[in-house]
Amino acid sequence: MEIAPGVYALTQRQGGHVHAFLLDDGTGLTLIDTLFDTDGRRVLAQIGRLRRAPTDLKHIILTHGHRSHLGGLAALKRVSGATVYGHEWEADVVAGDRKAQAVPLRPMRPLAAYWRVYHLQLGLALGFGAHPPCPLDQVVRNGDRIGPVEVLHTPGHSPGHLALHWPERRVLFAGDAIATWPLLAPGWPAFNLNRRQHRVSLGGMAELAAAIVAVGHGAPITEGAADRLRALAASLEV
Ligand SMILES: [Zn+2]
Ligand SMILES: [Zn+2]
Repeated sequence: MEIAPGVYALTQRQGGHVHAFLLDDGTGLTLIDTLFDTDGRRVLAQIGRLRRAPTDLKHIILTHGHRSHLGGLAALKRVSGATVYGHEWEADVVAGDRKAQAVPLRPMRPLAAYWRVYHLQLGLALGFGAHPPCPLDQVVRNGDRIGPVEVLHTPGHSPGHLALHWPERRVLFAGDAIATWPLLAPGWPAFNLNRRQHRVSLGGMAELAAAIVAVGHGAPITEGAADRLRALAASLEV
């Protein structure tokens, strides 16, 4: 699905309706995260629909080192030769040298949402398993530019979590800092390692006033995105 000019959302049910995004700025292709499947076939199919070759994929950017987002990494790196980018804090997880830090499962309120979130927590907890490892080629920092997007270091969900911003298209890729599945939420309270950092990160993202906010789990926010993001950020300030 093309959610903005040159921005293609790819998804699958496994890994908690995980999403990845293929960007076409008219030169090379840039991929943000790699879905859950380990063969990369959904990404390769989209590249084919654009009448491009796998080797046109120049950049693979990882928002963070959780299993759902890393499945296709090794396979896609192999066929494309793309440069793989991430934050240095996630590098050894992505390379398979360290497990992602487990987050304690805490029930979330209000209770009405509890059961749905419980299952989500369980599913994601199980999703912390091994992925085909692949080292980063380049570590990136806040403010770096990769292909068409700017890097925002947005810790909280994990220490090296990245969001990406395509300013000309007004699209923000928020990773797991925001979720829309199973419900719109400022991430999942039980899955933010550092809630203070997460609040600061969300505030920074809200200031960008993006027209579209694409997230790691669930459908992108395409209507009133800036206002909804500001409301989410404000909801964390208590
Ligand atoms: Zn995550
Ligand atoms: Zn995730």
